[in-house]
Amino acid sequence: MREVKVNLLGQTLEQLQELCAAEGFPRFTAKQLCDWLYKKRVDSIDRMTNLSLAQRARLNELAYIGREFPVRCQVSGDGTKKYLFPVLDGHFIETVYIPDDDRATLCVSCQVGCKMGCRFCVTGQQGFHGNLSAGDILNQLFSIPEFEHLTNVVFMGMGEPMDNIDAVLAACGALTSSWGLGWSPKRVTVSTVGIIPGLQRFLDESQCHLAVSLHNPVPQERQQLMPVQKAFPLNEVLALLRKYEWSGQRRLSFEYTMFRGLNDDLGNAAKLVEALRGLDCRVNLIRFHESPEAPFKTSMPATIKQFQDYLNRNGIVCTLRASRGQDIDAACGLLAGRKGQAD
Ligand code: SF4
Repeated sequence: MREVKVNLLGQTLEQLQELCAAEGFPRFTAKQLCDWLYKKRVDSIDRMTNLSLAQRARLNELAYIGREFPVRCQVSGDGTKKYLFPVLDGHFIETVYIPDDDRATLCVSCQVGCKMGCRFCVTGQQGFHGNLSAGDILNQLFSIPEFEHLTNVVFMGMGEPMDNIDAVLAACGALTSSWGLGWSPKRVTVSTVGIIPGLQRFLDESQCHLAVSLHNPVPQERQQLMPVQKAFPLNEVLALLRKYEWSGQRRLSFEYTMFRGLNDDLGNAAKLVEALRGLDCRVNLIRFHESPEAPFKTSMPATIKQFQDYLNRNGIVCTLRASRGQDIDAACGLLAGRKGQAD
């Protein structure tokens, strides 16, 4: 029977040590592999020149480096770029590069589509087509020309990270471990709607920042927007978060998209303050980006300002996130992974 080849990109040091042990390679070969994959970022096993020819030949039989270039790049008037990558069989994912003054953030996808079905999200309306591997996630960084400029990565593209937690933790490990890119965990933020089993593992196994999609503090109203509320109610998510320390290095934020007439009055603001009482956190307000697929409107600017001021007056640091890449459908909730004119 033919062996299924392993994608070396996305393998952790521990996984590479197991592979080397199984092949009878010296233990230090795993560290050499990490250096080639994550420090030198080679795209071919043949370029790993401190490995013997026999080792390279065996690795070529067993494994490959899953580097895949984007098939399309759309550029927004504000400099944001949206890349389309081919993944799995005939599917595509999107990745958004967001340059700012002294920062450059990459918003990566972790699944093809999403199971969560949030009613305001174009990705959620497309259904679920599969998980990305850690290699597929890292490839989104490694295969764009702006890699060297990146200062931050956010897992806020297509998919729910805690629903693909093994791959997300492996990718975060490669980004932040000394055997990987060696970034500070402060440069990585992972978002979630609150899938408790995955979230628990993330809290225990990673020091990266966390962003929880909240959107409405009233349980019945939140469930209308986010079906996940039924299986994993917000109060249980908050109870879990309260067990962890947030005043140190790791930051906790809540994402709150402003929908006109749905979640944007001061009554909602008061309930939000109540729900988050005692948690060291911040709230990011997001203007909803209207699309033909979603039956919602964005809040009026004055309403957003009033909501923001209320939170700030009541002890919660609240910012309004700048909208980027709206003209190329790269803004929050608009990623669809459609191949379109790339055909
Ligand atoms: Fe999935 Fe996030 Fe969209 Fe919800 S908002 S459907 S979790 S991609």
